[in-house]
Amino acid sequence: MAIDSEVLVVGGGIAGITAAIAAAREGADVRLVSHKASTLRQASGLIDALGYVPPTEPAKPLREGPPTAGWNLDPDEWPDPEGPIADPFEAIDRLPEDHPYRLVGADALREGLALFDDLVGDAYLGGHTDRNALVPTFGGSVKPTARYPASAAAGVASDDRPTLIVGFRSLTEYDARAFADRLAAAGVPFDVAGAEVEFAEAFRADAKVTRLAKALDRDEPIDGTPAREALAKAVGPHLHDVVDEAGGVDRVERVGFPAFLGDDHAAEVRAALADRLGADVFEVPMGPPSLPGLRLEDLLYDALDDAGVRFETGTPAVGYETDEGGAGGDGNGGRIDHLVMDRKGSEVPYGAEAVVLATGGLVGKGLDSDRDGVREPVLDLHVPQPADRYEWFVDDAFGEQPYARFGVRPDERLRPLDGSGEVAYGNVRVAGGVVGGADVAREKSASGVSLATGLVAGREAAREVQQ
Ligand SMILES: Cc1cc2nc3c(=O)[nH]c(=O)nc-3n(C[C@H](O)[C@H](O)[C@H](O)COP(=O)(O)OP(=O)(O)OC[C@H]3O[C@@H](n4cnc5c(N)ncnc54)[C@H](O)[C@@H]3O)c2cc1C
Repeated sequence: MAIDSEVLVVGGGIAGITAAIAAAREGADVRLVSHKASTLRQASGLIDALGYVPPTEPAKPLREGPPTAGWNLDPDEWPDPEGPIADPFEAIDRLPEDHPYRLVGADALREGLALFDDLVGDAYLGGHTDRNALVPTFGGSVKPTARYPASAAAGVASDDRPTLIVGFRSLTEYDARAFADRLAAAGVPFDVAGAEVEFAEAFRADAKVTRLAKALDRDEPIDGTPAREALAKAVGPHLHDVVDEAGGVDRVERVGFPAFLGDDHAAEVRAALADRLGADVFEVPMGPPSLPGLRLEDLLYDALDDAGVRFETGTPAVGYETDEGGAGGDGNGGRIDHLVMDRKGSEVPYGAEAVVLATGGLVGKGLDSDRDGVREPVLDLHVPQPADRYEWFVDDAFGEQPYARFGVRPDERLRPLDGSGEVAYGNVRVAGGVVGGADVAREKSASGVSLATGLVAGREAAREVQQ
């Protein structure tokens, strides 16, 4: 039995969710299908729009010769990326012409962020200004970001209050002292110290961030003391650890913790700790599993429900059929009639008038890479790439990597283009990581690209239905 909708969105990440809600708000009947739970639960929970503008010159060999030994680039010859960028919108014109932001325009980013603000309400900050905030992230870097969870707000780097960064001996990958040293070395405008404290050592064998968060949510006793009190007691002796440049001791005014301060009652946990410590409390976004990412996923899934989008996960798209009547010739490409979804081992056709492909990049499996090259596996869309694999990479790990910009190339309406630059399918739109042209890791633009292209793809798909 075929399952039909007007708009079918494939992919449950930020791009797919944004596209689905944008299409539903235009009045379309929308279904969203996704293979796996979204990658949001691995992501930091920060919404980056544009933090850096990498050099636009393509990577070139500086020395002549075959692409082996002679391919090495001299790292000193690399222009540094421009940044951190204060205002992402004014920097868009300096991105390459085929960058997704250049295709859909600065207003799409603005509207995508506004839609995000609307969906998450006061759970996120940063919406009052066009300018990026600088937020410390685990690892000790300070990152330009457009929106940040309320839980990270007291940690912004523009604040000059003396800061203590707390780590836990039971969470070995998080070294608070090294983190504080890196922040100081980066020239942050506040005095900072790091302290490793003993807390929840019993969770060592199973250092599940979510277990710690739940213990704080419920204020469960840990070694006989309620969790919040136990944590505040562990931190208390370090409230005078921060030393200023003159060697004087600062009273800590804000304390940063790894991001597991509660799950369902995170604001309450932070308030209780702040009260006991007499200092503001913030979370430092960490690697996976990421509670800020999980919290964002919950918010966005609720928003899908509110928008009336039907949503199913565990359903990969494994094939497609084209509509024989609409096979191109008019510059608008062919048409997809339906996708084939794998539902618990059975292949089920999902018909739609318009399809949004938002299956992610190499991480989300929206792009596949093997010895023969990089391909888009769902609709077999064209992914431009140099035939010579040596041209995919440069030796300098910090250099501009051509493969980072691989992906499907669309027109400004986000219709995918084939190898000759013609629209491949007129009723398909692409959004998010599957779209090429952006080096989201270097630019710090991943979520912004997903929001801007998701918004345009969703609206465009809804309009396709109305035609
Ligand atoms: C570890 C990590 C850290 C990150 N940190 C940040 C950050 O600090 N700031 C920031 O702005 N962004 C960050 N991001 C990026 C951001 O979360 C998004 O991943 C990115 O914007 C791309 O979103 P997307 O929706 O295009 O794709 P994805 O998030 O990759 O989602 C793709 C979706 O498509 C589904 N899918 C794939 N193939 C199929 C198929 N055949 N059938 C059905 N469904 C399919 C997947 O299951 C998934 O649900 C991070 C991502 C990761 C993984």
